[in-house]
Amino acid sequence: MGVSYHALMTIDPGNLGILTHPHPTLRMPAQPVEEVDDLVRAVAVRMFQLMEEAAGIGLAAPQIGLSWRMFVTRDPEDETKNSVWINPELEVIEDSKESDEEGCLSLPGILVNVNRPLGIRIRGLNERGEPVDEVSNEHIARVWQHEHDHLDGRLIIDRMSSMDRLRNRRALRDLKRG
Ligand code: ZN
Repeated sequence: MGVSYHALMTIDPGNLGILTHPHPTLRMPAQPVEEVDDLVRAVAVRMFQLMEEAAGIGLAAPQIGLSWRMFVTRDPEDETKNSVWINPELEVIEDSKESDEEGCLSLPGILVNVNRPLGIRIRGLNERGEPVDEVSNEHIARVWQHEHDHLDGRLIIDRMSSMDRLRNRRALRDLKRG
């Protein structure tokens, strides 16, 4: 099950790995991070490591078994730009939607066309506990929304069309069998 923020003492970031569907922690609404401390920073470092090993562009704490409102991203338009988002909040600033294919490190082999608003403002804390406020209508705005969904226990398979359901049927069945 998920590890709450209060169980910090038992966490060894080096032992954390990416969980796949249908692990129950992926479905739990995550809790706010109370303090951006050394452990939170060590977890962020581990998340970057796991994200890069898996060639991902985003990874949320629930995906490594921590029910924390926190995710890391790599900007697909600027690969040197790594960001940590703690207690992030999103605001739609451009409501027109666009559909694009998304994958998820917790759903290997699955691709889903997801319709999302184009322009997003994100506010949260960085790994030093400082407030960060950014706006984008580039691909990273989609990544923010995908990762933020993880903090509320939502996955891209919740948004599948009947076409997506069909083409992902085998991969989903294999995941459920474990
Ligand atoms: Zn994901």
